[in-house]
Amino acid sequence: MKTIQTDILILGSGGAGLFAALHAHQSDPALDITIAVKGLLGKCGCTRMVQGGYNVALAAGDSVERHFMDTIEGGKWLPDQDLAWKLVTLAVERIHELENELGCFFDRNPDGSIHQKAFAGQSFDRTVHKGDLTGIEIINRLAEQVWARKIKRLEEHRAVALVKAKSGAAIAGVLMIDMRTGEFAFVQAKAVLLATGGGPTMYKYHTPSGDKSCDGLAMALRAGLTLRDLEMVQFHPTGLLAGAHTRMTGTVLEEGLRGSGGYLLNGEGARFMGNYDTKLERATRDIVSRAIYAEMRAGRTTPNGGVHISMAHLGPENVAKQFKGMVERCADSGFDLAGGLVEVVPTAHYMMGGVAFKADCSTALPGLFAAGEDTGGVHGANRLGGNGVANSTVYGGVAGEEMAAWVRTQGVLHQPDGDEIAAAEAACRAPLGRPAGDIEGVRQALYELMWNDVGIVRDATGLARARGALAALEARLNATGVDAGDLRYNLAWHDWLNLDNLILVSRAICEAALLRENSRGAHFREDFPGAGELATSTYSLVRTAGDGFSVSREPVKFTRVKPGETLLG
Ligand SMILES: Cc1cc2nc3c(=O)[nH]c(=O)nc-3n(C[C@H](O)[C@H](O)[C@H](O)COP(=O)(O)OP(=O)(O)OC[C@H]3O[C@@H](n4cnc5c(N)ncnc54)[C@H](O)[C@@H]3O)c2cc1C
Repeated sequence: MKTIQTDILILGSGGAGLFAALHAHQSDPALDITIAVKGLLGKCGCTRMVQGGYNVALAAGDSVERHFMDTIEGGKWLPDQDLAWKLVTLAVERIHELENELGCFFDRNPDGSIHQKAFAGQSFDRTVHKGDLTGIEIINRLAEQVWARKIKRLEEHRAVALVKAKSGAAIAGVLMIDMRTGEFAFVQAKAVLLATGGGPTMYKYHTPSGDKSCDGLAMALRAGLTLRDLEMVQFHPTGLLAGAHTRMTGTVLEEGLRGSGGYLLNGEGARFMGNYDTKLERATRDIVSRAIYAEMRAGRTTPNGGVHISMAHLGPENVAKQFKGMVERCADSGFDLAGGLVEVVPTAHYMMGGVAFKADCSTALPGLFAAGEDTGGVHGANRLGGNGVANSTVYGGVAGEEMAAWVRTQGVLHQPDGDEIAAAEAACRAPLGRPAGDIEGVRQALYELMWNDVGIVRDATGLARARGALAALEARLNATGVDAGDLRYNLAWHDWLNLDNLILVSRAICEAALLRENSRGAHFREDFPGAGELATSTYSLVRTAGDGFSVSREPVKFTRVKPGETLLG
């Protein structure tokens, strides 16, 4: 097997991965840094898809304390407060870096200051943006800076296993598949960053990029690491619903549509949000998603089974001008957003949960660091729109600096555990030895069961049903083969591997959801609708144990502010 050696190996080239590479390089330009990514650098992942923007306290009248309080209250008091504090304080530094060092242009006010718009759940207009294509601006500039430096790239390389040293005491490197050739390669590294961006693509309707299948979380589980807050899966209320035949179904229609006064109408033409929340369509994502889901369960649906968003009362010309991109996207799918009705459905958007990590991005496995959507704890039970890209860029930068320091002080190229490599390779090759089967059927079954039983509204009966169904689905996948004739760009094989990871992480989500017997933010238990005592809040931990999982709870440490208190004077 080909072996590559590097000082720092970064998995993923979203905001977290690219910032980590740049900051590690800045800390020590002599370091050998390699970015390995499942897609093409700069062209994949969700940071590129960021529409709305980036939260940061810049304007007069705003403050990091205010941003912090919004993040804690939005996260229903479950965030790790030190992680959230670092997020809001370093976001200020990072946005200046993006503008002044990396060359991003964000929209500006007539007086030249950065324009900041309103986003749900925030007490101040603090979302920096470039029109509604903020992520493309950020990723393009970051990618240019990476290309301009001596940073190595392994594109279309899929990480499949975190491999430990023979002693088990540290990471030795990562087993990869070169997707272009189908060959395995081992990348030995002194430090590894997990920045594969989570991504709840196990739900029937979902928003993240197609390259994301919770690979990082699955690798972490298999390596024995603990994940926190995994039950917290955020649904965006307005995913486009254009039928099962198109990948446009599930993609986000931005929050600004509701924010600017859009109506939600059920299949009977009635505006229904008044039955659920006094803020109507401007209620937070979790509330609107649950309301839409309730209408769907009551059968008051549109032809494709969702509800309608209606903007025409705001003036079709205004809508066309204000939401040009959204109007074009809807037109591509046969809908007239400006003057007619568009079908929408809640869509799985973001995972608040992920690898338990410290504020220096270190994990329980020495030499392994984590940043971005692969991590848990920053957002608690709910992520504010605009805090996702802030999280990945802030902590990506931190990880880069910390990995450089780690390599300098204690970085060693450990000999990998050969048995771990052999076992991981055998597991990946397993479907190649069996007759080709119905992978798509497994995917559809996963979509349905996660949507129905581990989705927007949960209860013990449904979760227990899902637990059994997921175990059965895993067995079904393990009996399903893939045509091994040609391993170059063998998409069926990669689909199989994606599903293997998605099912493992789905099982972990299900366990965490069963453990949490209250309703907080994104997690709603119909059998436990109350939020529980905030002062005795706990967060969930899940790890693999034998063929199953071990779950536990830890009390939230209110290190900066207690429920009922505020940092604002
Ligand atoms: C449509 C959409 C709109 C959004 N809008 C906003 C917004 O307005 N504001 C906001 O704050 N957040 C938004 N988000 C969320 C935001 O995009 C994410 O929180 C953030 O960008 C995640 O960054 P990341 O670096 O962790 O992961 P990503 O940017 O997703 O990058 C993950 C990388 O890992 C790679 N990868 C995956 N698996 C493997 C593997 N096995 N081996 C190697 N590489 C792998 C991927 O190819 C990719 O390069 C949005 C998300 C979506 C989907």
